[in-house]
Amino acid sequence: MATLQNALPELPALFAALGFAAHKHAGQLRKSADMSPYINHPIAVAGILARDGGISDAATLAAAFLHDTLEDTATTEIELTRHFGVLVAAIVVELTDDMTLPKAERKARQIVLAREYSRPARLVRIADKIANIRDVTHNPPAHWSAERRLNYLHWAAQVVASLRGTHAALERLFDADLAHGLAVLGALAETATADSPRISPQLQDRS
Ligand code: ZN
Repeated sequence: MATLQNALPELPALFAALGFAAHKHAGQLRKSADMSPYINHPIAVAGILARDGGISDAATLAAAFLHDTLEDTATTEIELTRHFGVLVAAIVVELTDDMTLPKAERKARQIVLAREYSRPARLVRIADKIANIRDVTHNPPAHWSAERRLNYLHWAAQVVASLRGTHAALERLFDADLAHGLAVLGALAETATADSPRISPQLQDRS
């Protein structure tokens, strides 16, 4: 676990990354029913890395704060490089889906591309999926059926399967949260859609 002492020199840069992400995501809300500010998500991802993963590497934590800026806001790689350096910008680029592709293809590609991620990108992606499966289990978008939520969990499991061997504690945490989510949603789905056919989990939309 990081100590306060060794984290202090990096704090100004980390607050800069958090502030930059908060500014870029300003006005955006999570799709959850409680419509929490979008920035809560990157904060949760960085928190999982620091608290549960014991990660104190500043580039990894800054990339966690910034990981959705290229994908979901008007931010460029040049901007990230100028503010946070080449390394952080490169991690965020790794974590950015090609938004010109159809959603199903993006989701399938994420499973494949995750195998080639750098270690910082792998760590952020595992924490990202932990945060998302927690939201999908406990605080989902209002219009998502139990089946759609289950499909998201199955897809997240496939992405994390591409990242195994990165960080044992974070992978165990993912497995525990996934098992919990499957139990919660499996029970829901059985009551809600007992007579509808199962849908292949791989290519389901998330939003
Ligand atoms: Zn994310």
